[in-house]
Amino acid sequence: MSETPRESLPVVVIGAGPVGLAAAAHLLERGLEPLVLEAGGDPGAAVASWGHVRLFSPWRYDVDAAARRLLADTGWAEPDPDTLPTGGDLVRDYLTPLAGALGDRVRYGARVTDVARDGADRSRSLGRERRPYLVRYTVGAETREVRARAVLDASGTYGTPNPLGPSGLRAVGEERAAGHLSGGLPDVLGVDRERFAGRTTLVVGMGHSAANTLLSLVDLAADEPGTRIVWAIRGGSPRRLYGGGSDDELPARGLLGTRLRDAVEAGGVELLTRVAIERLDVPAAPQDGVRVLGTARQDGVDGALDLRVDTIVNATGFRPDLDLLREIRLDLDPVVEAPRAIAPLIDPNHHSCGTVPAHGETELAHPDDGFYLVGMKSYGRAPTFLLATGYEQVRSVAAALAGDRAAADAVELNLPQTGVCSSDLALAADADGVVTPGALALAEASGGGCCAAPSGPQAVTLGLGAPPEAVGGCGGTTAEASGCGTSAAPAAQPEPVKAGFATGVGHGRSGDE
Ligand SMILES: Cc1cc2nc3c(=O)[nH]c(=O)nc-3n(C[C@H](O)[C@H](O)[C@H](O)COP(=O)(O)OP(=O)(O)OC[C@H]3O[C@@H](n4cnc5c(N)ncnc54)[C@H](O)[C@@H]3O)c2cc1C
Repeated sequence: MSETPRESLPVVVIGAGPVGLAAAAHLLERGLEPLVLEAGGDPGAAVASWGHVRLFSPWRYDVDAAARRLLADTGWAEPDPDTLPTGGDLVRDYLTPLAGALGDRVRYGARVTDVARDGADRSRSLGRERRPYLVRYTVGAETREVRARAVLDASGTYGTPNPLGPSGLRAVGEERAAGHLSGGLPDVLGVDRERFAGRTTLVVGMGHSAANTLLSLVDLAADEPGTRIVWAIRGGSPRRLYGGGSDDELPARGLLGTRLRDAVEAGGVELLTRVAIERLDVPAAPQDGVRVLGTARQDGVDGALDLRVDTIVNATGFRPDLDLLREIRLDLDPVVEAPRAIAPLIDPNHHSCGTVPAHGETELAHPDDGFYLVGMKSYGRAPTFLLATGYEQVRSVAAALAGDRAAADAVELNLPQTGVCSSDLALAADADGVVTPGALALAEASGGGCCAAPSGPQAVTLGLGAPPEAVGGCGGTTAEASGCGTSAAPAAQPEPVKAGFATGVGHGRSGDE
């Protein structure tokens, strides 16, 4: 057990993604020494794996403030704030220079396997708060340990996708079928083209990843005869992803959903609803693909599912890896697996657009002091995390660790009501990520932006107690009732104002039945 006083140890940050690196920049500014442990060989390893996908937030919302200040002294040329980067751009033009500025405070190829209180298992209480953290990690075949005064777990959820089975478990045979499974965001029109051209693909999922992959496959099918696209969803209707129709209170939600609906209606995408994939059988000959067995509804009739496909794209979302935190006392919501205070605001059963008030150290704290889940992982199983939210989280946590309680509690988000998070904008952008005024108008006319906000990008300060007149878009509703586009709540009391991105109809998954 370490005799070094806790305060003189570094703050370990797990993951050199956008939020982990931003955390390191904030800690440095506060005079605290960060040590970032990154499993991948380079910064932004998770983002790099979806490098071909264009973000829906322009650069202005993708760069953290402390990171910008750190980079200012390095001769870094900040990208045009109004263009939309791809994941690859984000890594090359921002995360790589940022990691460079942090120097050997970032260690690569370092996969964290366990976090504990040094010398005390989870059940031991006496003197627990005085003990530093012990972080165990592997570098190749070697196991190493480091002590830390605090730990920020910014390891995201990208490495732990949900399984295909209907009960949150793997379908029988899922591991054996691994060669036929693809992650949620294959580069269909790029490096992965051969895998999909002229073949049958089953896309499973009901989020933007599924929609993006389906539309790329539609484009591929136009050039490559024999390309067959089947889309499986667990719910009874894809309405939420389409963004509402004539029977919906919301206006049409823009190009992504509309294009997908058109493709389904034209027969280019075969839609199966109420799908439960129970079993995957792999024939002896790999060229025979994989047999998908279970139940599904087709043409309004429930029946057996028996489908032979070449590849299954699993776009069913992600879940946090909590195994490495087994010895930490966490306070997590049992549904979302996010810190209890923020979970009701992002529960995908009730929310479709990531509505969440600005929140900080207080909401992210756990019974073990000095341990935090930040970034994508702080949203647990909810899919609606935004970078700007994570940057504010780590600003607040760094302030608290430095003893600046006032700054830790002064949480606010500065987001526009349109533009930061519109999937429509990503589609409206040209090849260089530039959104023209015409494309912006089109996206807004189709209800793009954050949850049908008033037209025109408008910067608003988001935070608890913001004035009622600032309430718009996703804001102004209670946690239970919100979900984008539900009817506006009375603005008699100042309400937490929330930001999010359009996915379609209100009430999240509860509207799927
Ligand atoms: C396709 C896509 C598009 C998105 N577009 C937007 C957008 O437009 N705007 C927006 O605001 N948000 C967007 N998001 C959401 C979110 O902002 C991103 O997922 C973002 O990358 C989350 O950052 P993060 O730092 O929390 O996690 P990640 O980027 O996932 O980084 C986590 C890092 O931790 C590392 N790691 C994992 N496990 C370990 C371990 N055990 N030990 C050490 N290191 C580990 C990983 O290698 C990775 O580098 C998008 C997400 C996706 C998937």
